[in-house]
Amino acid sequence: MNDAYDLIVLGGGSGGIAAARRAAQHGARVALIEPGKLGGTCVNVGCVPKKLMWHAAHIAETLHEAAGYGFDIGSVTHNWHRLRERREAYITRLNGIYRENLGKDGVTLIDGYGRLLNPQRVECAGQRYGAERVLIATGGRAVRPAAPGAELGIDSNGFFALDRCPKTVIVAGSGYIAVELCGVLKALGAQVTLVFRRERLLSSFDAMLGEAVQDALRVQGVVLRPNTYVRALMQTGEGVQAQLSDSDALRAETMLWAIGRTPNTGCGLRESGIALGAAGQVLVDPWQATNVPNVFAVGDVTGHAELTPVAIAAGRRLSDRLFGGQSERRLDYENIPTVLFSHPPIGTVGLTEKAAREQYGDTVKIYESRFKALYYGVLDEKRESRMKLVCVGADERIVGIHVIGEGADELLQGFAVALRMGATKRDFDDTVAIHPTSAEELVTMR
Ligand code: FAD
Repeated sequence: MNDAYDLIVLGGGSGGIAAARRAAQHGARVALIEPGKLGGTCVNVGCVPKKLMWHAAHIAETLHEAAGYGFDIGSVTHNWHRLRERREAYITRLNGIYRENLGKDGVTLIDGYGRLLNPQRVECAGQRYGAERVLIATGGRAVRPAAPGAELGIDSNGFFALDRCPKTVIVAGSGYIAVELCGVLKALGAQVTLVFRRERLLSSFDAMLGEAVQDALRVQGVVLRPNTYVRALMQTGEGVQAQLSDSDALRAETMLWAIGRTPNTGCGLRESGIALGAAGQVLVDPWQATNVPNVFAVGDVTGHAELTPVAIAAGRRLSDRLFGGQSERRLDYENIPTVLFSHPPIGTVGLTEKAAREQYGDTVKIYESRFKALYYGVLDEKRESRMKLVCVGADERIVGIHVIGEGADELLQGFAVALRMGATKRDFDDTVAIHPTSAEELVTMR
Protein backbone atom coordinates (compact mmCIF):
# COMPACT_ATOMS: atom_id res chain seq x y z
CA MET A 1 0.00 0.00 0.00
CA ASN A 2 1.15 3.56 -0.81
CA ASP A 3 1.70 6.36 1.74
CA ALA A 4 -1.07 7.03 4.18
CA TYR A 5 -2.72 10.42 3.81
CA ASP A 6 -4.75 12.51 6.21
CA LEU A 7 -7.28 13.09 3.43
CA ILE A 8 -7.93 11.53 0.04
CA VAL A 9 -10.27 13.45 -2.21
CA LEU A 10 -12.09 11.72 -5.06
CA GLY A 11 -12.73 14.32 -7.77
CA GLY A 12 -10.78 17.36 -8.96
CA GLY A 13 -13.76 19.65 -9.61
CA SER A 14 -14.89 22.76 -7.75
CA GLY A 15 -15.58 21.06 -4.40
CA GLY A 16 -12.69 18.56 -4.43
CA ILE A 17 -9.98 21.09 -5.31
CA ALA A 18 -11.27 23.65 -2.79
CA ALA A 19 -11.33 21.09 0.03
CA ALA A 20 -7.96 19.55 -0.89
CA ARG A 21 -6.13 22.88 -1.06
CA ARG A 22 -7.66 24.21 2.16
CA ALA A 23 -6.80 20.98 4.02
CA ALA A 24 -3.21 21.12 2.74
CA GLN A 25 -2.97 24.80 3.75
CA HIS A 26 -3.87 23.68 7.27
CA GLY A 27 -0.95 21.22 7.14
CA ALA A 28 -2.77 17.99 6.24
CA ARG A 29 -1.17 15.41 3.91
CA VAL A 30 -3.61 15.34 1.02
CA ALA A 31 -4.00 13.34 -2.20
CA LEU A 32 -6.50 14.25 -4.90
CA ILE A 33 -7.64 11.68 -7.47
CA GLU A 34 -8.98 12.91 -10.80
CA PRO A 35 -9.33 11.02 -14.10
CA GLY A 36 -10.10 14.03 -16.30
CA LYS A 37 -9.19 17.67 -16.68
CA LEU A 38 -8.73 19.61 -13.47
CA GLY A 39 -11.55 21.98 -12.59
CA GLY A 40 -14.33 19.46 -13.21
CA THR A 41 -17.67 20.38 -14.72
CA CYS A 42 -17.57 24.11 -13.98
CA VAL A 43 -14.29 24.87 -15.70
CA ASN A 44 -14.45 22.39 -18.57
CA VAL A 45 -18.09 21.85 -19.52
CA GLY A 46 -20.15 24.09 -17.26
CA CYS A 47 -20.11 27.64 -15.89
CA VAL A 48 -16.95 28.89 -17.64
CA PRO A 49 -17.56 27.85 -21.27
CA LYS A 50 -21.29 28.55 -20.79
CA LYS A 51 -20.66 32.12 -19.64
CA LEU A 52 -18.26 32.72 -22.55
CA MET A 53 -20.95 31.51 -24.95
CA TRP A 54 -23.44 33.78 -23.18
CA HIS A 55 -21.08 36.72 -23.73
CA ALA A 56 -20.92 35.83 -27.45
CA ALA A 57 -24.72 35.72 -27.58
CA HIS A 58 -24.89 39.06 -25.77
CA ILE A 59 -22.52 40.63 -28.31
CA ALA A 60 -24.69 39.26 -31.16
CA GLU A 61 -27.72 40.93 -29.59
CA THR A 62 -25.88 44.19 -29.01
CA LEU A 63 -24.76 44.24 -32.65
CA HIS A 64 -28.38 43.75 -33.66
CA GLU A 65 -29.40 46.69 -31.47
CA ALA A 66 -26.49 48.93 -32.52
CA ALA A 67 -28.48 50.55 -35.36
CA GLY A 68 -30.82 52.08 -32.78
CA TYR A 69 -27.78 53.82 -31.31
CA GLY A 70 -26.78 55.24 -34.70
CA PHE A 71 -24.22 52.65 -35.81
CA ASP A 72 -24.20 51.41 -39.42
CA ILE A 73 -22.61 48.02 -39.06
CA GLY A 74 -23.81 46.20 -42.17
CA SER A 75 -24.00 42.44 -42.10
CA VAL A 76 -21.93 40.62 -39.50
CA THR A 77 -20.95 36.97 -39.46
CA HIS A 78 -19.95 34.84 -36.51
CA ASN A 79 -17.19 32.23 -36.55
CA TRP A 80 -18.20 29.63 -33.93
CA HIS A 81 -15.11 27.53 -34.65
CA ARG A 82 -12.78 30.45 -33.83
CA LEU A 83 -14.65 31.22 -30.63
CA ARG A 84 -14.48 27.56 -29.62
CA GLU A 85 -10.70 27.47 -30.19
CA ARG A 86 -10.17 30.61 -28.10
CA ARG A 87 -12.54 29.32 -25.40
CA GLU A 88 -10.74 25.97 -25.18
CA ALA A 89 -7.34 27.69 -25.08
CA TYR A 90 -8.55 29.75 -22.12
CA ILE A 91 -9.83 26.61 -20.37
CA THR A 92 -6.50 24.86 -20.96
CA ARG A 93 -4.80 27.80 -19.25
CA LEU A 94 -7.18 27.42 -16.30
CA ASN A 95 -6.46 23.67 -16.11
CA GLY A 96 -2.76 24.54 -15.83
CA ILE A 97 -3.38 27.13 -13.09
CA TYR A 98 -5.34 24.54 -11.07
CA ARG A 99 -2.48 22.04 -11.41
CA GLU A 100 0.07 24.66 -10.33
CA ASN A 101 -1.97 25.73 -7.33
CA LEU A 102 -2.38 22.14 -6.13
CA GLY A 103 1.37 21.71 -6.48
CA LYS A 104 2.08 24.94 -4.55
CA ASP A 105 -0.09 23.74 -1.67
CA GLY A 106 1.63 20.34 -1.66
CA VAL A 107 -1.40 18.26 -2.72
CA THR A 108 -0.42 14.97 -4.39
CA LEU A 109 -2.29 14.57 -7.67
CA ILE A 110 -3.18 11.02 -8.73
CA ASP A 111 -4.42 10.46 -12.27
CA GLY A 112 -7.33 8.03 -12.70
CA TYR A 113 -10.69 6.93 -11.33
CA GLY A 114 -10.69 6.41 -7.59
CA ARG A 115 -12.64 3.61 -5.96
CA LEU A 116 -13.50 3.38 -2.30
CA LEU A 117 -12.46 -0.07 -1.00
CA ASN A 118 -13.38 0.69 2.60
CA PRO A 119 -13.63 3.87 4.70
CA GLN A 120 -9.83 4.08 4.99
CA ARG A 121 -8.67 2.71 1.67
CA VAL A 122 -8.93 3.91 -1.91
CA GLU A 123 -7.80 2.24 -5.11
CA CYS A 124 -6.72 4.02 -8.28
CA ALA A 125 -5.11 2.49 -11.38
CA GLY A 126 -4.20 -0.71 -9.53
CA GLN A 127 -2.57 1.12 -6.59
CA ARG A 128 -4.00 1.24 -3.08
CA TYR A 129 -3.83 4.31 -0.87
CA GLY A 130 -4.55 4.62 2.82
CA ALA A 131 -6.30 7.63 4.32
CA GLU A 132 -7.65 8.68 7.65
CA ARG A 133 -10.50 10.46 5.94
CA VAL A 134 -12.01 10.31 2.47
CA LEU A 135 -13.95 13.04 0.70
CA ILE A 136 -16.31 12.13 -2.15
CA ALA A 137 -16.50 15.06 -4.61
CA THR A 138 -17.22 13.18 -7.82
CA GLY A 139 -19.94 15.54 -9.11
CA GLY A 140 -22.64 14.49 -11.54
CA ARG A 141 -23.39 13.92 -15.20
CA ALA A 142 -26.22 14.67 -17.64
CA VAL A 143 -29.01 12.10 -17.93
CA ARG A 144 -30.84 10.99 -21.06
CA PRO A 145 -34.32 9.51 -21.19
CA ALA A 146 -34.95 5.83 -21.91
CA ALA A 147 -36.54 6.86 -25.25
CA PRO A 148 -35.53 4.88 -28.36
CA GLY A 149 -32.74 6.64 -30.24
CA ALA A 150 -31.89 8.94 -27.29
CA GLU A 151 -28.20 8.36 -28.04
CA LEU A 152 -28.62 10.27 -31.33
CA GLY A 153 -28.95 13.50 -29.34
CA ILE A 154 -26.22 15.38 -27.51
CA ASP A 155 -26.08 16.64 -23.91
CA SER A 156 -24.45 19.79 -22.52
CA ASN A 157 -20.98 18.21 -22.96
CA GLY A 158 -21.90 17.65 -26.63
CA PHE A 159 -23.00 21.27 -26.91
CA PHE A 160 -19.52 22.43 -25.89
CA ALA A 161 -18.00 20.00 -28.42
CA LEU A 162 -19.97 21.52 -31.33
CA ASP A 163 -17.64 23.02 -33.91
CA ARG A 164 -20.27 25.17 -35.58
CA CYS A 165 -23.72 26.48 -34.84
CA PRO A 166 -26.37 23.99 -36.00
CA LYS A 167 -29.00 25.55 -38.27
CA THR A 168 -31.87 23.90 -36.41
CA VAL A 169 -31.94 22.49 -32.89
CA ILE A 170 -34.51 20.79 -30.68
CA VAL A 171 -33.76 21.30 -27.00
CA ALA A 172 -35.52 19.14 -24.40
CA GLY A 173 -35.72 20.33 -20.80
CA SER A 174 -37.22 22.99 -18.56
CA GLY A 175 -34.41 23.78 -16.14
CA TYR A 176 -31.74 26.43 -16.20
CA ILE A 177 -29.33 24.60 -18.51
CA ALA A 178 -32.05 24.14 -21.17
CA VAL A 179 -33.03 27.82 -20.95
CA GLU A 180 -29.44 29.07 -21.06
CA LEU A 181 -28.32 26.94 -24.00
CA CYS A 182 -31.51 27.76 -25.97
CA GLY A 183 -30.76 31.47 -25.61
CA VAL A 184 -27.17 31.07 -26.79
CA LEU A 185 -28.07 28.92 -29.79
CA LYS A 186 -30.84 31.28 -30.88
CA ALA A 187 -28.72 34.43 -30.53
CA LEU A 188 -25.89 32.84 -32.52
CA GLY A 189 -28.15 31.92 -35.43
CA ALA A 190 -29.92 28.60 -34.85
CA GLN A 191 -33.66 28.04 -35.17
CA VAL A 192 -34.56 26.58 -31.79
CA THR A 193 -37.56 24.60 -30.54
CA LEU A 194 -37.76 24.00 -26.79
CA VAL A 195 -39.76 20.93 -25.79
CA PHE A 196 -40.68 20.51 -22.13
CA ARG A 197 -43.01 18.26 -20.15
CA ARG A 198 -44.34 20.89 -17.81
CA GLU A 199 -46.66 23.83 -18.29
CA ARG A 200 -43.94 26.23 -17.23
CA LEU A 201 -40.17 26.55 -17.39
CA LEU A 202 -38.01 26.84 -14.25
CA SER A 203 -40.62 25.24 -11.98
CA SER A 204 -38.41 25.47 -8.88
CA PHE A 205 -38.02 29.26 -9.27
CA ASP A 206 -40.58 31.96 -8.44
CA ALA A 207 -43.52 31.67 -10.88
CA MET A 208 -42.94 35.23 -12.12
CA LEU A 209 -39.48 34.27 -13.39
CA GLY A 210 -40.73 31.20 -15.27
CA GLU A 211 -43.45 33.25 -16.91
CA ALA A 212 -41.09 36.10 -17.79
CA VAL A 213 -38.38 33.85 -19.21
CA GLN A 214 -40.97 32.14 -21.42
CA ASP A 215 -42.05 35.56 -22.75
CA ALA A 216 -38.40 36.51 -23.31
CA LEU A 217 -37.63 33.29 -25.21
CA ARG A 218 -40.72 33.82 -27.39
CA VAL A 219 -39.65 37.39 -28.18
CA GLN A 220 -36.19 36.04 -29.04
CA GLY A 221 -37.85 33.69 -31.54
CA VAL A 222 -37.52 30.35 -29.73
CA VAL A 223 -40.52 28.08 -30.42
CA LEU A 224 -41.90 26.74 -27.13
CA ARG A 225 -43.64 23.36 -26.93
CA PRO A 226 -44.89 22.98 -23.31
CA ASN A 227 -46.66 19.86 -21.99
CA THR A 228 -44.76 17.76 -24.52
CA TYR A 229 -41.83 15.37 -24.48
CA VAL A 230 -39.70 13.53 -27.01
CA ARG A 231 -40.90 9.94 -27.31
CA ALA A 232 -38.25 8.74 -29.77
CA LEU A 233 -35.43 9.99 -31.98
CA MET A 234 -34.61 8.74 -35.47
CA GLN A 235 -31.68 9.45 -37.76
CA THR A 236 -32.46 11.36 -40.96
CA GLY A 237 -30.19 12.38 -43.84
CA GLU A 238 -29.71 15.90 -42.41
CA GLY A 239 -29.90 15.17 -38.69
CA VAL A 240 -32.68 13.75 -36.51
CA GLN A 241 -36.42 13.46 -36.36
CA ALA A 242 -38.04 13.69 -32.93
CA GLN A 243 -41.35 11.94 -32.35
CA LEU A 244 -43.23 14.04 -29.81
CA SER A 245 -45.71 12.85 -27.19
CA ASP A 246 -48.50 14.84 -28.90
CA SER A 247 -47.94 12.76 -32.10
CA ASP A 248 -46.23 15.65 -33.88
CA ALA A 249 -42.79 15.09 -35.42
CA LEU A 250 -39.98 17.64 -35.59
CA ARG A 251 -36.87 17.55 -37.76
CA ALA A 252 -33.63 19.25 -36.82
CA GLU A 253 -29.91 19.08 -37.40
CA THR A 254 -29.25 18.50 -33.68
CA MET A 255 -31.20 17.40 -30.62
CA LEU A 256 -29.93 18.57 -27.23
CA TRP A 257 -30.99 16.84 -24.00
CA ALA A 258 -30.98 19.08 -20.93
CA ILE A 259 -33.41 17.14 -18.77
CA GLY A 260 -31.40 16.82 -15.58
CA ARG A 261 -28.25 15.48 -13.96
CA THR A 262 -27.45 12.48 -11.80
CA PRO A 263 -24.71 12.04 -9.16
CA ASN A 264 -21.54 10.04 -9.94
CA THR A 265 -21.59 7.32 -7.27
CA GLY A 266 -20.33 4.26 -9.13
CA CYS A 267 -17.00 4.36 -7.28
CA GLY A 268 -17.49 1.72 -4.62
CA LEU A 269 -19.82 3.81 -2.43
CA ARG A 270 -22.69 1.36 -2.19
CA GLU A 271 -20.27 -1.53 -1.59
CA SER A 272 -18.66 0.44 1.25
CA GLY A 273 -22.03 0.97 2.91
CA ILE A 274 -22.44 4.68 2.06
CA ALA A 275 -26.15 5.58 2.20
CA LEU A 276 -27.58 6.98 -1.02
CA GLY A 277 -30.87 8.84 -1.48
CA ALA A 278 -33.71 8.16 -3.90
CA ALA A 279 -32.06 10.24 -6.64
CA GLY A 280 -28.78 8.37 -6.13
CA GLN A 281 -27.19 11.27 -4.21
CA VAL A 282 -24.81 10.70 -1.29
CA LEU A 283 -26.74 11.47 1.89
CA VAL A 284 -24.86 13.82 4.20
CA ASP A 285 -25.64 15.57 7.47
CA PRO A 286 -25.19 19.34 7.94
CA TRP A 287 -21.47 18.69 8.54
CA GLN A 288 -21.05 17.00 5.11
CA ALA A 289 -20.59 13.65 6.89
CA THR A 290 -21.96 10.44 5.37
CA ASN A 291 -23.36 7.61 7.50
CA VAL A 292 -19.90 5.96 7.46
CA PRO A 293 -17.42 7.50 9.93
CA ASN A 294 -14.61 9.54 8.32
CA VAL A 295 -16.19 9.54 4.86
CA PHE A 296 -17.53 12.93 3.76
CA ALA A 297 -19.11 14.31 0.58
CA VAL A 298 -19.51 17.78 -0.95
CA GLY A 299 -20.86 19.29 -4.16
CA ASP A 300 -23.17 17.95 -6.82
CA VAL A 301 -22.77 14.35 -5.67
CA THR A 302 -24.81 15.29 -2.57
CA GLY A 303 -27.65 16.69 -4.69
CA HIS A 304 -27.83 19.95 -2.65
CA ALA A 305 -27.93 23.31 -4.50
CA GLU A 306 -25.84 22.16 -7.44
CA LEU A 307 -23.70 25.24 -7.94
CA THR A 308 -19.96 25.82 -8.03
CA PRO A 309 -19.74 28.33 -5.14
CA VAL A 310 -21.78 25.91 -3.00
CA ALA A 311 -19.38 23.03 -3.68
CA ILE A 312 -16.39 25.30 -2.99
CA ALA A 313 -17.83 26.74 0.22
CA ALA A 314 -18.85 23.30 1.53
CA GLY A 315 -15.39 21.89 0.72
CA ARG A 316 -13.44 24.75 2.30
CA ARG A 317 -15.56 24.83 5.45
CA LEU A 318 -15.24 21.07 5.86
CA SER A 319 -11.45 21.29 5.69
CA ASP A 320 -11.45 24.25 8.10
CA ARG A 321 -13.41 22.08 10.53
CA LEU A 322 -11.45 18.85 10.10
CA PHE A 323 -7.94 20.29 9.86
CA GLY A 324 -8.12 23.96 10.87
CA GLY A 325 -9.51 23.64 14.38
CA GLN A 326 -12.74 25.50 13.50
CA SER A 327 -15.14 23.04 15.09
CA GLU A 328 -18.37 24.94 14.25
CA ARG A 329 -17.52 25.71 10.62
CA ARG A 330 -20.05 24.44 8.10
CA LEU A 331 -22.06 25.70 5.17
CA ASP A 332 -25.49 27.21 5.75
CA TYR A 333 -27.56 26.11 2.73
CA GLU A 334 -30.24 28.78 3.23
CA ASN A 335 -30.55 31.86 1.03
CA ILE A 336 -28.09 30.83 -1.64
CA PRO A 337 -28.21 33.42 -4.42
CA THR A 338 -28.20 32.17 -7.97
CA VAL A 339 -28.10 33.64 -11.45
CA LEU A 340 -29.45 32.21 -14.64
CA PHE A 341 -27.73 33.40 -17.80
CA SER A 342 -30.80 33.78 -19.95
CA HIS A 343 -31.42 36.78 -22.23
CA PRO A 344 -32.03 38.92 -20.20
CA PRO A 345 -30.48 37.28 -17.14
CA ILE A 346 -32.22 36.25 -13.93
CA GLY A 347 -31.03 36.79 -10.37
CA THR A 348 -32.83 35.16 -7.48
CA VAL A 349 -32.32 34.60 -3.75
CA GLY A 350 -34.50 33.43 -0.88
CA LEU A 351 -38.06 32.18 -0.81
CA THR A 352 -40.38 32.13 -3.80
CA GLU A 353 -43.76 33.80 -3.21
CA LYS A 354 -45.39 30.36 -3.04
CA ALA A 355 -42.91 29.02 -0.47
CA ALA A 356 -43.25 32.19 1.62
CA ARG A 357 -47.07 31.94 1.64
CA GLU A 358 -46.83 28.28 2.71
CA GLN A 359 -44.45 29.22 5.52
CA TYR A 360 -45.77 32.62 6.63
CA GLY A 361 -49.42 32.65 5.44
CA ASP A 362 -51.18 36.02 5.40
CA THR A 363 -48.23 37.96 6.74
CA VAL A 364 -46.61 37.86 3.28
CA LYS A 365 -46.55 41.10 1.33
CA ILE A 366 -45.40 41.25 -2.29
CA TYR A 367 -43.93 44.25 -4.10
CA GLU A 368 -43.63 43.97 -7.87
CA SER A 369 -42.33 46.12 -10.67
CA ARG A 370 -42.36 45.83 -14.49
CA PHE A 371 -40.52 48.33 -16.64
CA LYS A 372 -38.43 48.83 -19.78
CA ALA A 373 -34.83 49.71 -18.94
CA LEU A 374 -33.50 53.06 -20.18
CA TYR A 375 -31.21 51.20 -22.61
CA TYR A 376 -34.29 50.35 -24.68
CA GLY A 377 -35.44 53.97 -24.81
CA VAL A 378 -33.99 54.49 -28.29
CA LEU A 379 -34.60 50.95 -29.56
CA ASP A 380 -37.66 49.67 -31.39
CA GLU A 381 -37.54 46.17 -29.84
CA LYS A 382 -37.85 46.59 -26.11
CA ARG A 383 -37.37 43.98 -23.41
CA GLU A 384 -39.18 44.03 -20.15
CA SER A 385 -37.53 43.84 -16.73
CA ARG A 386 -39.49 42.38 -13.82
CA MET A 387 -38.72 42.44 -10.11
CA LYS A 388 -40.37 41.00 -7.05
CA LEU A 389 -39.71 41.48 -3.34
CA VAL A 390 -41.21 38.90 -0.98
CA CYS A 391 -41.64 40.40 2.50
CA VAL A 392 -42.99 38.90 5.73
CA GLY A 393 -44.31 40.13 9.06
CA ALA A 394 -45.16 43.54 10.44
CA ASP A 395 -41.63 44.81 9.81
CA GLU A 396 -41.72 43.50 6.21
CA ARG A 397 -38.51 41.50 6.44
CA ILE A 398 -37.35 40.66 2.94
CA VAL A 399 -37.18 36.89 2.46
CA GLY A 400 -37.10 36.69 -1.36
CA ILE A 401 -35.71 38.82 -4.19
CA HIS A 402 -36.43 37.80 -7.79
CA VAL A 403 -35.25 39.79 -10.80
CA ILE A 404 -35.21 39.29 -14.56
CA GLY A 405 -33.73 42.03 -16.68
CA GLU A 406 -30.55 43.71 -17.86
CA GLY A 407 -27.93 43.67 -15.08
CA ALA A 408 -29.81 41.18 -12.86
CA ASP A 409 -26.74 38.95 -12.84
CA GLU A 410 -24.44 41.60 -11.39
CA LEU A 411 -26.88 43.41 -9.10
CA LEU A 412 -28.00 40.38 -7.11
CA GLN A 413 -24.82 39.65 -5.12
CA GLY A 414 -25.04 42.81 -2.99
CA PHE A 415 -28.78 42.49 -2.46
CA ALA A 416 -28.22 38.87 -1.33
CA VAL A 417 -25.95 40.19 1.45
CA ALA A 418 -28.74 42.54 2.56
CA LEU A 419 -31.30 39.72 2.59
CA ARG A 420 -28.95 37.49 4.59
CA MET A 421 -28.47 40.26 7.12
CA GLY A 422 -32.24 40.49 7.64
CA ALA A 423 -32.98 43.71 5.72
CA THR A 424 -36.55 45.03 5.80
CA LYS A 425 -38.50 46.88 3.14
CA ARG A 426 -37.88 50.03 5.17
CA ASP A 427 -34.10 49.48 4.89
CA PHE A 428 -34.49 49.27 1.13
CA ASP A 429 -36.69 52.41 1.10
CA ASP A 430 -34.11 54.27 3.19
CA THR A 431 -31.30 53.45 0.77
CA VAL A 432 -30.83 56.24 -1.75
CA ALA A 433 -31.21 55.02 -5.32
CA ILE A 434 -28.42 55.01 -7.91
CA HIS A 435 -29.76 56.68 -11.02
CA PRO A 436 -30.24 55.81 -13.83
CA THR A 437 -29.90 52.05 -13.28
CA SER A 438 -32.23 49.07 -13.19
CA ALA A 439 -31.10 48.24 -9.66
CA GLU A 440 -32.68 51.45 -8.32
CA GLU A 441 -36.13 49.89 -8.88
CA LEU A 442 -35.42 47.50 -6.01
CA VAL A 443 -35.16 50.37 -3.53
CA THR A 444 -38.03 52.45 -4.91
CA MET A 445 -40.89 49.93 -5.09
CA ARG A 446 -44.25 50.94 -3.67
P1 FAD B 1 -17.60 18.55 -10.58
O1 FAD B 1 -17.13 19.91 -10.88
O2 FAD B 1 -18.47 17.89 -11.56
O3 FAD B 1 -16.28 17.69 -10.36
C1 FAD B 1 -16.33 16.32 -10.14
C2 FAD B 1 -15.04 15.70 -10.62
O4 FAD B 1 -14.97 14.36 -10.15
C3 FAD B 1 -14.93 15.62 -12.13
O5 FAD B 1 -13.76 16.29 -12.55
C4 FAD B 1 -14.88 14.12 -12.44
O6 FAD B 1 -14.00 13.82 -13.51
C5 FAD B 1 -14.34 13.56 -11.13
N1 FAD B 1 -14.69 12.16 -10.87
C6 FAD B 1 -15.84 11.50 -11.19
N2 FAD B 1 -15.75 10.22 -10.75
C7 FAD B 1 -14.54 10.09 -10.14
C8 FAD B 1 -13.87 9.03 -9.47
N3 FAD B 1 -14.42 7.80 -9.36
N4 FAD B 1 -12.63 9.26 -8.96
C9 FAD B 1 -12.05 10.48 -9.06
N5 FAD B 1 -12.65 11.52 -9.69
C10 FAD B 1 -13.88 11.33 -10.20
N6 FAD B 1 -22.82 26.37 -11.46
C11 FAD B 1 -22.74 27.69 -11.13
O7 FAD B 1 -22.51 28.02 -9.97
N7 FAD B 1 -22.90 28.67 -12.09
C12 FAD B 1 -23.12 28.36 -13.38
O8 FAD B 1 -23.27 29.27 -14.22
C13 FAD B 1 -23.20 26.99 -13.76
N8 FAD B 1 -23.40 26.64 -15.04
C14 FAD B 1 -23.43 25.32 -15.39
C15 FAD B 1 -23.64 24.98 -16.73
C16 FAD B 1 -23.67 23.66 -17.12
C17 FAD B 1 -23.88 23.33 -18.57
C18 FAD B 1 -23.49 22.63 -16.14
C19 FAD B 1 -23.51 21.18 -16.54
C20 FAD B 1 -23.28 22.96 -14.81
C21 FAD B 1 -23.25 24.30 -14.42
N9 FAD B 1 -23.08 24.67 -13.08
C22 FAD B 1 -23.03 26.01 -12.74
C23 FAD B 1 -22.96 23.67 -12.01
C24 FAD B 1 -21.50 23.46 -11.59
O9 FAD B 1 -20.73 23.14 -12.71
C25 FAD B 1 -21.44 22.35 -10.56
O10 FAD B 1 -22.31 22.66 -9.50
C26 FAD B 1 -20.03 22.19 -9.99
O11 FAD B 1 -19.11 21.88 -11.01
C27 FAD B 1 -20.03 21.08 -8.93
O12 FAD B 1 -18.74 20.85 -8.47
P2 FAD B 1 -18.35 19.40 -7.91
O13 FAD B 1 -16.96 19.54 -7.38
O14 FAD B 1 -19.39 18.89 -7.05
O15 FAD B 1 -18.35 18.46 -9.20
